[in-house]
Amino acid sequence: MSSHVHTTYLSPPSISDSDIQAVTAALRSGWAAPVGPSIAEFEDLVCSQMGFRHGVALASGTSAIHLGLKFLGVQPGDIVITSTLTFAATAFPIMYLGAIPAFVDVDESWNMDVELLDSAIRALRRSGKTISAIIPVDLYGTPANYARLSEISKRHEIPLFADSAESLGSKLNNGNLSDYVSAAAVSFNGNKIITTSGGGMLLTDDVDFVERVKHWSTQSREPAPWYEHKEVGYNYRLSNILAALGSSQTSRLPEIVRKRRSIRDAYREAFLRIGAVEVQKDPEWGISNAWLSVALFDREAHTRIPTEVRLELASNGIEARPIWKPLHSQPVFSSSPAFLSGHADDIFGRGLCLPSGTDMSTDQIARVTRHVTSVLKRMDRS
Ligand SMILES: *Cc1c(COP(=O)(O)O)cnc(C)c1O
Repeated sequence: MSSHVHTTYLSPPSISDSDIQAVTAALRSGWAAPVGPSIAEFEDLVCSQMGFRHGVALASGTSAIHLGLKFLGVQPGDIVITSTLTFAATAFPIMYLGAIPAFVDVDESWNMDVELLDSAIRALRRSGKTISAIIPVDLYGTPANYARLSEISKRHEIPLFADSAESLGSKLNNGNLSDYVSAAAVSFNGNKIITTSGGGMLLTDDVDFVERVKHWSTQSREPAPWYEHKEVGYNYRLSNILAALGSSQTSRLPEIVRKRRSIRDAYREAFLRIGAVEVQKDPEWGISNAWLSVALFDREAHTRIPTEVRLELASNGIEARPIWKPLHSQPVFSSSPAFLSGHADDIFGRGLCLPSGTDMSTDQIARVTRHVTSVLKRMDRS
């Protein structure tokens, strides 16, 4: 039998006994529905973690982005600007509304390049387009440069809506995310830093925003004894059972962030000794939750290194993944405008997401670094 009986996954859920007790208690309460006391409790907890006044728990991060953009008034044919280096779920909701995503490249922080954003807005406006929102993304937990982004958003009078699906538990050095954006979307999908198996939340300081989204997410039911609807609705509310899991997971978030950051530090330290590979750093303006640790290989050394490392890890029962393929290269977005510097393509070519799960043991981390090191040594010789 091989030594790798258990696969080391990229970012599997971490479920504690207290999580199981919380779900059991919610089931016993009888509230097995998209209403119940655990939902408001979960919303309050996430709000206090993220520094927002109001939250609405939804079925996914994607649905939070969808209804968030709807509230911001995105119309068919409008442009919504986002980062090219992200998961497609950032941009799909733009398409749900019949609008057009426009992609802006990233800077050294791997997040939206602020200078490029400014020139993209000018160019799009010159060609007569209406830009109805900007969606910065906090890639792999690294907060975007919100202080600079909000300057630009104010100057051009375009609302900022944060895709913080990957950055629950990350912090800005100056102020809260709520100081800079109209709203933010977070995700509790199975591989995110905490999970409800599937779920998301829209966060905002604006009461009207949260009330509208809550209304739409529950099929736009009017307050009447019968089912009365004045508007199109969505079945996007989170289940009470999953909210109970979410509260329990959220109470563990500070400890989980500490663990994820320690995994990233361990990789960084191990790779420092061999050179030719860096690990994503915190930006000057904030602290990442280190949701995923991402290695960036020195491309000059060998263009095939990320692939070779990934295959070597896979053959040893360790899951690693290429980073998000930039959206400007995705067939589904081929007709979207893109403002590029080459940075996202470069990171895509050199990056690899390494196992970062909360429950990883020291031994598992050591096995990952050992395999990475051995591939680098082998390729150095070839
Ligand atoms: C996961 C993710 C989403 C979507 O969240 P779901 O809960 O999976 O719908 C959106 N944007 C980014 C950047 C993500 O990583």
